[in-house]
Amino acid sequence: MAKGNIGITTENIFPVIKKFLYSDHEIFLRELVSNAVDATQKLKTLASKGDFKGELGDLTVEVKLDETAGTITISDHGIGMTAEEVEKYINQIAFSGANDFLEKYKDDANAIIGHFGLGFYSSFMVAKQVDIVTRSYREDAEAVRWTCDGSPAYEMEVTEKAERGTDIILYIDDDAKEFANKAKLQELLRKYCRFLPVPVALGKQTEWKDGKEVETDALNVINTTEPLWTKAPSTLKKEDYESFYRELYPMADEPLFWIHLNVDYPFNLTGVLYFPQIKNNLDIHRDRIQLYSNQVYVTDHVENIVPEFLTLLHGVIDSPDIPLNVSRSYLQSDSNVKKISSYIEKKVADRLLQMFKDDRKDFEEKWEGLKLFIHYGMLSQPDFYDRVAKMALFKDVDGKFFTYEEYRELIKDSQTDKDGNLVYLYMTDKEQQYGFIETAKAKGYSVLAFDGQLDTALVGLLEQKIEKARFARVDGDTIERLIPKADEVHKNLDEADSANLSTLFSSQLPAIEKINFHVDTQALGTVAAPVLITQSEYMRRMKEMSQYQSGMNFYGEMPDMYTLVLNTEHPLVTKVLGEMKENLSAELSAVEQSIKSLEARQQAISQMQGDKKPEDLSAEEKKEADDCREELQQQRDRKRELLGDYAGKNAIIPQLIDLALLQHGLLKGEALSRFCKRSVDLIG
Ligand code: ADP
Repeated sequence: MAKGNIGITTENIFPVIKKFLYSDHEIFLRELVSNAVDATQKLKTLASKGDFKGELGDLTVEVKLDETAGTITISDHGIGMTAEEVEKYINQIAFSGANDFLEKYKDDANAIIGHFGLGFYSSFMVAKQVDIVTRSYREDAEAVRWTCDGSPAYEMEVTEKAERGTDIILYIDDDAKEFANKAKLQELLRKYCRFLPVPVALGKQTEWKDGKEVETDALNVINTTEPLWTKAPSTLKKEDYESFYRELYPMADEPLFWIHLNVDYPFNLTGVLYFPQIKNNLDIHRDRIQLYSNQVYVTDHVENIVPEFLTLLHGVIDSPDIPLNVSRSYLQSDSNVKKISSYIEKKVADRLLQMFKDDRKDFEEKWEGLKLFIHYGMLSQPDFYDRVAKMALFKDVDGKFFTYEEYRELIKDSQTDKDGNLVYLYMTDKEQQYGFIETAKAKGYSVLAFDGQLDTALVGLLEQKIEKARFARVDGDTIERLIPKADEVHKNLDEADSANLSTLFSSQLPAIEKINFHVDTQALGTVAAPVLITQSEYMRRMKEMSQYQSGMNFYGEMPDMYTLVLNTEHPLVTKVLGEMKENLSAELSAVEQSIKSLEARQQAISQMQGDKKPEDLSAEEKKEADDCREELQQQRDRKRELLGDYAGKNAIIPQLIDLALLQHGLLKGEALSRFCKRSVDLIG
């Protein structure tokens, strides 16, 4: 019997493996089964080259659990190992700078295993003793038994083994008892070994006999050896892709479409990516892309391999160029991984473009499901915008689709403002902005439907990308101001009348929490509504952005800014003004007269005192200025009071305000019920 020490420079590698790799200990099974699969495939290769002439026999890799003995055995009929090979591959693990490395990566099990090629040794994460019983495929090779109890010391001896291949026997440690359980093994094999290229079986199939579950002779194979992505796309049908999708994600809805990836230069990659139907945020977190390396499951965290916006896709990526034991730090720096990421992005864009070209109608039908990905991509990946801008679509309020270019052509003549800017009108809520949409349409303008999660986030980007373009939500202002056509603004009231009208209405505005109103007058013609409410585009966007971006909380805290626009050409508004003038003219003109003379006096005072510094003014001079200011303030207050009192007794003003609020969804609770009551009274 040979004895020796495993050739590592650090004495305590096993405690390290156990301790630091604790969180990932389940991967021992993946490591051992993939070694068994590798050994089997190597034998097949030798056979196909004629270097192995014996019978291949059944090549199934078997995982066996002996609950009473507390062992798990992984058996293969692959190439096996000679004593020299065990010495070379198992005993002499070459370490360099092991201690430093372990210290650096102690929290990253995958990095440690990957770095040392410690696949086999990961078995010591769960086993107190590991035996290897192996017989090489070479003729006359003697079988070997290797035993190690988790210390760097091992024993090796010649043994008897009837069949070619390797048995790895794990004596499960007391603190890893959970793995000596069939259901657990089944779960792990399903996770990591589901698509391995060689059949892998966990014990035997069972059946119910006489009320008992008994084992049959048939092996319980847990994997599919030729998963869909390894096949040639030309041999696959729509149903094949759909059923594979269901196999991967039993809970998900049918996918929108898929892309079969297949590249062998400058890196090797196969896979199928599905565009899923995403209905809510839960869906996003539940199902993910799975990453494989030669059909061995690696992870479903593909953040660094796939461009971020495509992590929302589903499916499988398989690349032997991504090592089995991926660590984050590795992925970020690896140039292959970067190439893979941009390849996938390009492939997705190409496929979208092709779908668009092949069947525009079908593409339009899928658009609602697709746009989340496309918009996300455009926003997060500048080159993706350039790739897809030709086929990204706009949808108008009537559900008609346009490419960006087509839409530009459509609105070019009618929606260019006086400064030569093209104004893209959009709405986010058809019901709430109905009136504004109708007004815009009546002018012959087109309105886009931006009702998706990322549509409004896209507005800022589109304004940068499309030359001389401005996006405006239909309720951002009156349509005349959204697309101003002339420098000269048409007016039908003089400034004094406009100001009085504004005061009348602002005196009756309700106080609503976190909402500020500003009153404005505009001549909008006799057909437009008498009073309408608009919301400033700028402030609204800032507030919307503050929801996604930190550092913008300031905007989130600000009240909403609305403008109450009085249509000075509407008969009801002119009536309010006319009646007020009739009823209030005597009192009003008296106040206005004194305001005028006080203003004149104030001007005279400031002219007189203008050249002097404040400290050079005499007490008398100061008093004169202060008195005048105070008196002017009083008169102005008086005027506001007069108008306010009048408005308070007027039935039309609050009714018009409430109608505008109602149309904007801002009339609620007590105010709404007061409005209803007042309306009933008016009818009566
Ligand atoms: P890796 O698989 O990354 O090379 P391992 O520690 O898992 O590292 O295995 C080391 C070597 O031991 C393998 O490369 C292989 O030559 C040999 N080996 C491990 N398991 C088997 C097996 N079941 N059959 C034949 N050879 C094996």
